[in-house]
Amino acid sequence: MLEIKDLTVFYGTEKAVRELSMKVSGEVVCLCGRNGAGKSTVLRAVAGIVHVDSGQILLDGKDVIPIPLHKRLESGIGYVPEDRKLFKEMTVRENIEVAKIGVKASGRKEMNIDELLPELASLYNRKSKLLSGGQQKLVSIARAIATSPNVLLFDEVLEGLARSMMIKISEIVTKIKAEGKDILCAESSLDKAGMYADRIIWLEKGQIVATGSPAEIKKQISDSIRAR
Ligand code: ATP
Repeated sequence: MLEIKDLTVFYGTEKAVRELSMKVSGEVVCLCGRNGAGKSTVLRAVAGIVHVDSGQILLDGKDVIPIPLHKRLESGIGYVPEDRKLFKEMTVRENIEVAKIGVKASGRKEMNIDELLPELASLYNRKSKLLSGGQQKLVSIARAIATSPNVLLFDEVLEGLARSMMIKISEIVTKIKAEGKDILCAESSLDKAGMYADRIIWLEKGQIVATGSPAEIKKQISDSIRAR
């Protein structure tokens, strides 16, 4: 289980995330909200990429904030960043093998990449720079699951993709959840989040303003627009 307690993150003097608390347990939770609401910052804080000013990030009850970045992903957190971050000159296979370094001794049950992402099988020997945007997203997901994490973070994983690829990736996220993983995502569009999320957390200015199923949040938004 992932539990975030009273998380606060500043960039300089700007408070990007304000005393935010939430839990993810056996579900896909998606942070939604306008640009600048703080979605990516929450994911980056969990991944260890931004400095946390106060609060706790508990992975199965253990606070991971003191764990440095290079050890954080080894500790059971898989991160799919918005911009994919692949080694462009390496093949797909090499990108995945590099991600496995350091986690072999973790003792966690290895996830089966071939089963979860069968569409990668024909691409293993291709250099990553030669892949389409959607294929690169698949490799980025494979890199994240190569570390056999208990918690996965997906930042705008459907952004910029053709509808058929959005459906494919939504199905992959659902399959990963079925393996017992906790999944925290961010999407700026509620429609995209609704393709795979069990629960939406709506953020404004770094704070939670609503939480519910995609249908409940859609209704709350249209009710508030109507009430204006
Ligand atoms: P988007 O959908 O545009 O990525 P977001 O909801 O993910 O938006 P964040 O990227 O988390 O929002 O940004 C939250 C706030 O922090 C915004 O006001 C943003 O301008 C600011 N911010 C984000 N990254 C930095 C940074 N590296 N330095 C300074 N301010 C930042």
